[in-house]
Amino acid sequence: MPVSLYNTMSRSVEKFEPIDDKEVGLYTCGPTVYNYAHIGNLRTYLFEDLLKRALVFSGYSVKHVMNITDVGHLTGDGDEGEDKLEKMAQKTKRSVWDIAEYYSKAFFSDFNQLGMIAPDITCKATDHIPHMIALIERLEERGHTYVSGGNVYFSIDSIDDYGKLAKLDLESLRTAVREDVTQDTNKKNSKDFVLWFTKSKFGEQSMMWDSPWGRGFPGWHIECSAMSMHYLGEQFDIHCGGIDAIPVHHTNEIAQSEAATGKKPWVKYWLHGEFLLDETGKMSKSKGEFLTLELLKKKGYAPMDYRFFCLGGHYRSQLKFSFATLDTAVTARKNVCDRVIALKREGSRAIELKGRKALDYKEAFTEHIQNDLNTPRCLADLWGVLKDDELSSDEKYSLVLIFDQVFGLGLATLQVPEEKIIDDPEALALLKKRTEAKQAKDWALADRLRSELDALGYLVKDTASGPSLEKKM
Ligand code: AMP
Ligand code: ZN
Repeated sequence: MPVSLYNTMSRSVEKFEPIDDKEVGLYTCGPTVYNYAHIGNLRTYLFEDLLKRALVFSGYSVKHVMNITDVGHLTGDGDEGEDKLEKMAQKTKRSVWDIAEYYSKAFFSDFNQLGMIAPDITCKATDHIPHMIALIERLEERGHTYVSGGNVYFSIDSIDDYGKLAKLDLESLRTAVREDVTQDTNKKNSKDFVLWFTKSKFGEQSMMWDSPWGRGFPGWHIECSAMSMHYLGEQFDIHCGGIDAIPVHHTNEIAQSEAATGKKPWVKYWLHGEFLLDETGKMSKSKGEFLTLELLKKKGYAPMDYRFFCLGGHYRSQLKFSFATLDTAVTARKNVCDRVIALKREGSRAIELKGRKALDYKEAFTEHIQNDLNTPRCLADLWGVLKDDELSSDEKYSLVLIFDQVFGLGLATLQVPEEKIIDDPEALALLKKRTEAKQAKDWALADRLRSELDALGYLVKDTASGPSLEKKM
């Protein structure tokens, strides 16, 4: 079944046809490690993980590269403001290297707890300065750069299709830039962007490297072009990020990559995840206190609750976060887990699916995930399976395991709580009698049987997936 994905470049859902059918090249813009990731950032990484899982589920092998931005990302995407890491280092009186290491660790801790599959290659900007310099030299040789005020700029007037991804006219591009714009007078065109800073208008940087243009540091956009092409080749299949990357970061990446190689298109499919909004609108780190995975954990939520919450919205729709909606996801996930545990407790096994109904469920799920990652429909398929009494337990369990290759909820490794594996025949017989008594609405008998079980040392628990026994401590 073919995979279809929404390509931001064409603004339409397209049939996915990779450049080379042996391996899909996937580049996802990684974190800027100057602070904790907020749960909005994490939504974007979860969408990218879902995309990767869907491709693997569909039979592709994927080479996934993700960068770590540890230098060059200024507070404004259009070269305004200070370097985010330098700013945090000064504020906390730590070195930029410490900041990068500390927040990278925190990021990967979130990443792992959310069940995301590690990229095949994770690359730090600071480890790839020579690759960036080489790319800037290529641009210089082809006449796409100029030096002004000590910095090297990319001239957007040197190409004829600048801004094709954003499809915005220059006026709207201007308004997309954040409000604190302080116009860089070195620029010939306000949309030109820095490839290499030697004269930083923000004082001495602590991270600096020698270059043909003097000692300095790279602009933000050049790192993603240099590292993606280094690991995936000069043309590759998919590039992802959040929608805020469209007007400046990805626009500039395309401009410089295609100008350097002369090859178009640089990337075949551009996929962007919509934003997570908080109750005040856009989620942002500059708002002071912001929502992190650790904060959710402190409030008693499991990382997988957040993963489940995100699956409930399509990646191209805005998702509004509130604790009330997260609570709904918690209840739903618990219900799923209880049912899967009940299947395990019954000794269900993964089997080869042969029954028509089970195969129909698998087909519907496959169609939904391959149709631009329609996770809300996929979750509905999961519910359908769990509630369908015409399926055998083995069929249900097998479908759950198949679906979870994409969901990544860890359903295969759910543990049946030890107390639930009770093989005391006397207790099990009493429990069975009690269930029958309840079904016959003989509450007095059911209560008596509960007391008998109590006397034998067992607690009876009524859960969504049926009654179970727990050995009293
Ligand atoms: P950063 O670490 O700030 O570079 O951001 C990491 C990723 O999170 C980028 O791909 C952004 O596009 C994305 N992002 C930023 N804010 C949000 C949000 N509120 N919801 C979803 N994604 C976001
Ligand atoms: Zn990037």
